[in-house]
Amino acid sequence: MITITTRRFLVFLLSTIGFLFRNKSTRKYTLIPILVIGLGFLLPQKIIIPVRGATTSDWDDHSFWAYPWGSSVTHKGIDIFKPKGTDVISSTYGIAIYTHEGGKGGKTVMVLGPKWRFHYYAHLDTVDAFPFQPLKPGTKIGTVGNTGNAVGKPPHLHYAITTPFPYWWLRDPNIIQGNRKMFYLDPDTWLRE
Ligand SMILES: [Zn+2]
Repeated sequence: MITITTRRFLVFLLSTIGFLFRNKSTRKYTLIPILVIGLGFLLPQKIIIPVRGATTSDWDDHSFWAYPWGSSVTHKGIDIFKPKGTDVISSTYGIAIYTHEGGKGGKTVMVLGPKWRFHYYAHLDTVDAFPFQPLKPGTKIGTVGNTGNAVGKPPHLHYAITTPFPYWWLRDPNIIQGNRKMFYLDPDTWLRE
């Protein structure tokens, strides 16, 4: 239903709040994490296309939630096509949370950006970001590749934005996996502005 990152984030948040609340001596600080969450939503999201030199014509604006999409069922991001080795850059201000190698995504980077949105960069050829690295729009985090389940396909960046706080108004019970649309945001919404 939700991503591993979303689950870990919510478990961490709720256990922090629970820990603070359970102890009499720390109970007065319970509002701090809630306040931090509120402040995060106020941060403006300045966003750029996360591949150096790419334009809006380098991805298909109908590919978000495209179905059928292999073992993922629906396509929960957009694919930005550029030659292998092109710089992948952070789309927003943020903090690199982790880098990973393996599975469907191949070499990936996860970034926490403004408004508690997680930005996922997949199929990278090389990774330049490291955990807890602060990033700004344009910081190089890797290069375009075709690792993971993109092996044998043209090199592209799979770019996805997820939120641990559900956007219930995006839920669409009439389409396949439509309930999950509360947690996966269409990058096209902001990149085409
Ligand atoms: Zn993709």
